[in-house]
Amino acid sequence: MTNFSEHEFRKQPWFDQNNFPGFDQAIPMKSIVIYCFDPRAAGIPKAVAEYFGDEVYPGENILDEAGNNVGSTQSLFTLSNAGGRAIGALQSVATMNYLFNNLERLVVVHHSFCGATAFEPDQLIGKFHDHFHADISTMWDHDDLAILNYEQSIRHDVELLRSSPATPKKMKIYGFFYDINSGKLTEVLRDIPTEN
Ligand SMILES: [Zn+2]
Repeated sequence: MTNFSEHEFRKQPWFDQNNFPGFDQAIPMKSIVIYCFDPRAAGIPKAVAEYFGDEVYPGENILDEAGNNVGSTQSLFTLSNAGGRAIGALQSVATMNYLFNNLERLVVVHHSFCGATAFEPDQLIGKFHDHFHADISTMWDHDDLAILNYEQSIRHDVELLRSSPATPKKMKIYGFFYDINSGKLTEVLRDIPTEN
């Protein structure tokens, strides 16, 4: 049996999980971009980094003198799922806001000719019922399953992130549309909390 526990932070004598300051010193994580895992949409993180102008993407890993991989210069983190939907991102948003203290932006990007525009929610649910003999009809809000209208899906996801307890109130949330043919990124809306 192989035991990998020696690779856990909690098992290191120098690590104190009850006085965890965050990993900000190792990685200057500032933003999370949520987008579709369609390979044609792979240009989205770079386009988002260029749009904001103050992000590092891709970054470089940082090695210590012993050659250990101890950090990165990257500030923009990528989060891909089917359609680039907010519902699939919440666990990561919560976890990263525990591990890092300086997260500022959540960015949702839906792209042209996304597979999620090829069906309506009832068709996905129906296929599972007929072909796989499984009922997924109550697993998700049906607005999270398909993209019927880009403006509505982008707005839905920005609002879902804003209303989730997994999103700290301080975070800025942006919704974009990305054209996979031209690479053009268009901001659809932003939700910036008022500072006080
Ligand atoms: Zn897609």
